[in-house]
Order: sequence, then C-alpha cells, then structure tokens
Amino acid sequence: MSAINELRYNPLLGRWIIIAAEREERPWRPETCPFCPGSEEVDYGISVITLPNRYPALVVNPRPSRESVDILKVKGGYGYCKVVVETTLHEGDLCDIGLDNVVKYLEEIIRQHKELSSDPRIKYIFPFRNKGPEIGVSLHHPHSQIYAFPFIPLRIEREIECMRKFWKERSKCLLCHITELELKLKERVIYNGEGFIALVPFYAEWPYEVHIYPKRHIKYLVDLERSEVEELAKVLQLITRAYNKLFDRPFPYILSYHQAPVNSGDYPFYHMHLEFYPPLRSKDKLKYTAGVERGTWTFTYDGLPENRALELKRAIEKG
Ligand SMILES: [Zn+2]
Ligand SMILES: [Zn+2]
Ligand SMILES: [Zn+2]
Repeated sequence: MSAINELRYNPLLGRWIIIAAEREERPWRPETCPFCPGSEEVDYGISVITLPNRYPALVVNPRPSRESVDILKVKGGYGYCKVVVETTLHEGDLCDIGLDNVVKYLEEIIRQHKELSSDPRIKYIFPFRNKGPEIGVSLHHPHSQIYAFPFIPLRIEREIECMRKFWKERSKCLLCHITELELKLKERVIYNGEGFIALVPFYAEWPYEVHIYPKRHIKYLVDLERSEVEELAKVLQLITRAYNKLFDRPFPYILSYHQAPVNSGDYPFYHMHLEFYPPLRSKDKLKYTAGVERGTWTFTYDGLPENRALELKRAIEKG
C-alpha cells in the first residue's frame, strides 16, 4: 500500500499541517552512509547532488486518508521534498568544505528553485539546513533540504503582511530600512561586505540568532549575481566558522532561506534573506521553547542580543 500524504487545516490558527503516514515501517538507519560517494544513490566523486527524499512529506501523487467535513478541511499533500548533498566529505559544516564547493551548493539550490517553480501548483519553495543531533539530525553527512509547498506557510505570510504594510506606509522596503538602521547603529552588525550584512537582529529570539540580508532589494536567490553568490558562500563560511569557534564544539543550528512566494502574484515589497536559529545558549545548555514560547508564540531571551553580537564578532576575529 502506498503512503498517505495529506494537508489538514487548523481553523484556529489558519495554517496547514502536513501529514505523512507511512504504510510500511521505515527501515532502521542504514549502517553505510547513503550520501557518501559510491553509495547506491550517489555517483562517485560528485561534490553536490540533489536526491529525492526517500520518505517525503509532500509528493506529486498524494493520497489523502479521508474527505473534508464542513470546516475540517483535508487536501492532498502535493509537493516536493528534496535532499541536497553538499559535499563528498562525510563530516563537518559549511566552513569545512572548499569555498568552490559552497558556491556549487548555492548554485544547486538556485537550479532547483528554477525547476520547482516551473510547476504552477507550487506556491512556496523553502531551502533549509538542519545541523546537529540537538536539532534531530540523524544523518551526519552535510546536507540541506528543499520543500516545495502548494501553499504559502504562515510565517512567510506574516513577513509578507509586515513588509507590505511598511511599503505602503513609508514607500520603502522594511528590510532595506532595517539594513540602513543597523549599519548606522553598528552594535549588532557582525559582517558588513559589498553585497551583504550579517547581524544578530534587534529582535533575536534564539540566543545566537544571526540573519544575513542582501544589500540589494531582491526577492529570490535566483536574483543573485555571480559575485553575490560567491560573497554569500563566504559569509556562510564565516558565520558557521564563528559558530563552531564560539564554544569550541560543533554548533547546532537551523538555517532558513526566506524568499517571496512563486506562482501567486507579485511581491515587489519582499526582500529575501537568510536566518540562523541555533538552540545553544552556552557550551552545554540548550534554549528550550516551552510554555510561553509554545503556548503563546512569545519568545523570552536571556541576556542581550548586543552582547551576543560582540561574542560572535570576537569569534570571527579569531578566524
Ligand atoms: Zn557520508
Ligand atoms: Zn529591500
Ligand atoms: Zn525571514
């Protein structure tokens, strides 16, 4: 029997839940790495390769378990889930592979974006990277994932709303404005280059949260010029290196690529960006999202983001 892939609507929050129910049990974790060169799925010697997710949450021929009843809405879980294997090396982070390799990795995400957005049913393309067992990553081999959704996720809808409102009221882009402000104030900026800034945002929720904003007002990764792709690769290495230096240990994080939706109108006010959410608050303590965060979506932050920016700046200087 095939798997069940469906979307259920939560009318209390106005958002979709993706349900993927496997008919057969997943096999135990394989002993040999499926992403190392020479494995069944990966040809020998290819540095960056995209594979279909073996247990996808979204599929092109979804089979829902039941029909909608009144406001209890069900839809097929249509979409794509892909894995981008970033390198032939089995261990490490983006800072441990060659710069050329990171450039290739970004180019591959861009290529996938072009391909996935040609499907008119896809409304949102979300590349992301989970790193570390603290995040629940089972496969060590460096990899990212791409989800192509048939809807616009709630968090992105919220960003769109805020950016649209600012654009209307101030005739200017919200992120361009924040970039100007932060460059003037300086205290939270940890990298200021030709095409990008990296900073601990004023509104950080995770202890060492870092955002990367392109200085040019662009909506998608595909809008990046070649020199910008190269700089972004350098910035990704700089941040991940600083993270791993910070406590002299592998530093877990989630990296989100936020872009405008596809196939659903125009978003002239949207400014693409990257966000890191690392769960560590010290060398061996995790920040848990508990009652207040889960029950009300309000984050509590221990300490000051400005001091964390300083710590990260020092880690960057250590190289
Ligand atoms: Zn491997
Ligand atoms: Zn902008
Ligand atoms: Zn964002």
